[in-house]
Order: sequence, then structure tokens, then C-alpha cells
Amino acid sequence: MKITGVTQHHVSHPLDGAFYPTWIPGYPQGTHEAEVFEIETDEGITGITASPSFAGGIDYEEVLALFLIGEDPHDIETITKKLESIHTIGPRSWHIELAMWDIIGKAADKPVYELLGGSAEPVRAYASTGQKLPADERIDYVEERVAEGFEAVKLRITERDDIEVVRAVREAFPELTLMVDANKGWMVTVMDEESIWSVSEAIQVARELEDIGNIGWLEEPLPRHNYDGYAQLRSATDIPIAGGEFNHGAHELYQFLDADAVDILQPDAALATGIRQATEVAAAARNQGVAFIPHTWTNAIGFAANLQVLVAINGPWCEFPIDDPWVPEAWGSVIEQPFSVEDGYLTPRDEPGLGITLDRSTLNTE
Ligand SMILES: [Mg+2]
Repeated sequence: MKITGVTQHHVSHPLDGAFYPTWIPGYPQGTHEAEVFEIETDEGITGITASPSFAGGIDYEEVLALFLIGEDPHDIETITKKLESIHTIGPRSWHIELAMWDIIGKAADKPVYELLGGSAEPVRAYASTGQKLPADERIDYVEERVAEGFEAVKLRITERDDIEVVRAVREAFPELTLMVDANKGWMVTVMDEESIWSVSEAIQVARELEDIGNIGWLEEPLPRHNYDGYAQLRSATDIPIAGGEFNHGAHELYQFLDADAVDILQPDAALATGIRQATEVAAAARNQGVAFIPHTWTNAIGFAANLQVLVAINGPWCEFPIDDPWVPEAWGSVIEQPFSVEDGYLTPRDEPGLGITLDRSTLNTE
């Protein structure tokens, strides 16, 4: 089988109001955007994938075609080497590897998780917020999620004062598992710049969270390459420490493991590793008693790929983005049948490849 073509579509879906992601401080996001790629082959099978996009995106269909046309999509080793060279001249392109797995799965008529040795057991989901809200509004939000069956919610904090919202939610829901994401690993600086915590400040935050109790994990309290800092923090607190969603390639994830720096590794297959390296990192993590719970917050295609990995490695939680106006119908608008959670669980689909179908009416929109 040979790759014969690459087509890129810029997709933009208006959100129902402004969304204030903590990773783009101060920026009112009014659209969900994605760059969708179709990788065509000489056997009539087309693989789909997408990268996150922003403010109109970057067009690199032509350069991708130069690197990929003529390659066998089953040859993940060669494709990965070529993607590494694309990284040196342009965008990080881990998401392209996902399309190869979509092709491989469609050619084999099996979902990717099955090719990787997983079985279609339902996966427990946690509700993942993306912005900061006043305590009373966040309590209303959590009440809705609990009524829907979610057993855990992830809240965002970027300042020490935000811990008061976590405390208020804890008081309203004494038994609920709460994860806390500080978003200090990376950020998109368009408007404001968020503060970075020192290791000692991160330790103070962790101690306050210990006092609040039943915290699933503290995520990205430090910059993503401060492996020693993560290790110091981890040894100073009982709160599980999580990170790695946007590190680059397996070698950076292994640095967390080498430094005994985290309890949970979270590389996003679309942003950090592709699918093959995600499974390799997950195996190395398991060998050290470190959990593997990928970040999923890009778009429905990235979510589908991370779900495939999660099912393959039997991970304990699936991150499910839901924070109005960033709702499944918005981030899932590019596919037919957006993902949903029933009674706190996601059931893996049994369609081949990544298990999704593009909603073609959303393509080529501005
Ligand atoms: Mg995060």
C-alpha cells in the first residue's frame, strides 16, 4: 500500500459564547478550530487525523505531501523518522501518525485498540473543565456532572487564591474525586502571561490540596521540562503528581520516569508521541508503577486516538472535556456522532481504525 495524496481542511466551528481557556490566559476563544488531514492511499483507504488549530491555523498540506507520498502507511518506523524531520522545519506533526493507524485499522477491518492488544471494555471518564469560574457557578457545574454519573471532576487553578474554589467544591461534594490542573507546563501567550510557580510554591499548593483531601492528582504545577523540580515536589507531598501532556517525543517522557518525577504520565498522542510511542511510554511507565492517563483536549479526532491508546493499555481514566461553551457537540462537530459519556463511562466503538467518520459538511469552512 502506498500513500498517494494529502488533503488539509481548516475547520472552524463557532462556540456558543466566549470560552476562556486557562492555557491561553486572558483570551476569549470564540471558535473551535482544527486542521483536518486526509491521507489517501492507492487501495482506496483514506486515513483521517487532525491537529489543534488557532486563529486560522497553519497550512502545510504541500510539505506533508512531499514527505509522505509513496510511503507505505504500515511502515510506522519510516513515517516517524519523516515526521521528526518535519518537526525540524515546521510544525510538530505527531498527529499525522494517527492517520496511519486509521489506515492500518481500516485495512485490517479492526479498531486500533484491538490491533494493539486491547479489548472493548467501557472506560471510566472524568469531567474536565478548561476555565476558571466563581465557586457558586462551579458548584452548579459539578452538580450537573454528578447527576450525569461522573465520578470525578478536574478543576483549573492558576493562582494560589483559586484553591478556594477547590475547597468550596469539596465542601459541597465531600466524597467526589477532584483532580486539579495548574496549567504551568506550557501556555499560549497571546494576551496575558500567567505566573510560573517555584518548586517551593508548588509544594505549598500541594500541601493545601492535601488538607482539602481526596485529590486524584495535581497536574502540571511546574514547567514541562523541569524534571528535577517535579521530582522534588513529588517527594515532598502525598498528592499524586501528573504531567507530560505536551512534552515532545518518548525521550522526554522517559526523562520524567528516569527522575522519578511523576505518579501519572499524560502524553497526548496527537501532541506528544503519536500512537506507537504512546504505547511504548505506557509500558515503561507501568514498569515503574506510574499510571498512564493521556491528555485528550484537542478535538474529536485527537480524542478518538487517545481513547484508542487508553483502551489498548487499559488505562484507569479518560479525560472528557466539558465546560460550556466547550461542549462535546462543539469539539465533536467535525465528526458524525460526537462522543458522549453514559453513567460516567465511555464505551469504545467497534468501527475499524480510529472509529470515527468525518462530518463532511463541516469541512472547508472559515
Ligand atoms: Mg492539563
